[in-house]
Amino acid sequence: MIDSINQVESIIRDFWASAPGNSLHLETGEKAWDMPHVAVAQGDDPLFLRNKEMIGPFLWTPEEAYALAFPDSPAPASELRVISYVLPQTPETRADQRRETTVPAERWARSRFHGEAFNCDLRLHLAETLTRAGYPSVAPERLPDFGYQQSERFGLACNWSERHAAFVAGHGTFSLSDAMITRWGKAVRFGSVVSRINLPITERIYGDDHHAWCLWYAKGTCGACAKRCPVNAITTSTGHDKQACFTYIRETTAPYATRTYGTGATPCGLCQVRIPCEAQVPPALLEKT
Ligand code: SF4
Ligand code: SF4
Repeated sequence: MIDSINQVESIIRDFWASAPGNSLHLETGEKAWDMPHVAVAQGDDPLFLRNKEMIGPFLWTPEEAYALAFPDSPAPASELRVISYVLPQTPETRADQRRETTVPAERWARSRFHGEAFNCDLRLHLAETLTRAGYPSVAPERLPDFGYQQSERFGLACNWSERHAAFVAGHGTFSLSDAMITRWGKAVRFGSVVSRINLPITERIYGDDHHAWCLWYAKGTCGACAKRCPVNAITTSTGHDKQACFTYIRETTAPYATRTYGTGATPCGLCQVRIPCEAQVPPALLEKT
């Protein structure tokens, strides 16, 4: 019987520790990610519907994502849990990335490419392990219909958002650059699984304040991430310019990474390091929540 977050965290951490895919594919043999952390949201948390209203009707609720995977036996949202996990960048990757100013470091590019491939495997491993144990589960990001659509308010957006799932589950809040600030900072990636399982819900200590852990929104100070962006795609007046960010990554950092490191994917993340929220919540804000 699986009825605690620790048991779910063990499934994730065992895979993190043993899967050969959790690798930067360097001669050092080092892992792509630091130790993962888990939080759990209730499937019928009203914030999921609020997110859908904000982003667009194409954004799946947990209930909708689950029904796509199990069309013959859909479940009410109240019986579902969203298991969200954080994969922090390693200290070595962050240290290398801190030295860069215009293109991503090799370790960072490798984590974006090989590390995200491992993340895809981890999503499926968690969903399959829980399903085999009697708790039908799906990784929405791995569904065939997963993809991007145009949101009227936010531009290009996915029909399942790992970051919004992480916010509802209590992992952290959004920031000036749109990225999430978690207890392990902003230099992280996320994954999630929707499961028909009765797990305790993680306390969301910031309530529904989606900017609680960003110094700019909480105190009007900092703005360090804006100074890290080589193309001014973050400003304290308008936040994150998704189009400018997208263009720089497609035209500059991704081709550079492919040419120089032989990696694919779309790495940049210069704005995720050398900032007060790189590997933590700014302490003054954590104390307040
Ligand atoms: S660097 Fe400062 S302004 Fe930018 S997200 Fe972090 S706390 Fe907010
Ligand atoms: S990820 Fe986007 S916003 Fe961040 S530094 Fe790169 S281009 Fe700028």
